[in-house]
Amino acid sequence: MHSESIDENNVQPEDILCDFCGNAAWANNVPCVEGHKGSVVCGNCLSVAYSELVLVDRGVSMVEPCRMCLEHREEPVWQGVVEPVASICLRCTKQSAAVLNKSKQWDWSKPISS
Ligand SMILES: [Zn+2]
Ligand SMILES: [Zn+2]
Repeated sequence: MHSESIDENNVQPEDILCDFCGNAAWANNVPCVEGHKGSVVCGNCLSVAYSELVLVDRGVSMVEPCRMCLEHREEPVWQGVVEPVASICLRCTKQSAAVLNKSKQWDWSKPISS
């Protein structure tokens, strides 16, 4: 998501906030993946989502549409920790992980543990 003080003509890294933890992840050198309508998931949240959904299969059922793809799908989601609570679906988690996987600055082999 974007901070309320964002200047659309002069976007600063501090203005890009993760929808799931609310941190200005990009400004802190944490890679981010953008979804629809300005939604953003940071690498830290993605690591947690990936392990919960893919590795240990502890997703919850979807209540609201996925924040990233805006679709309501019959698949587990991971929910963020800030209000309003955002969900990311299994598909978006995998796709976003693949995007970050190609990013050289992000060492996906060492996800930050929660
Ligand atoms: Zn985050
Ligand atoms: Zn999705």
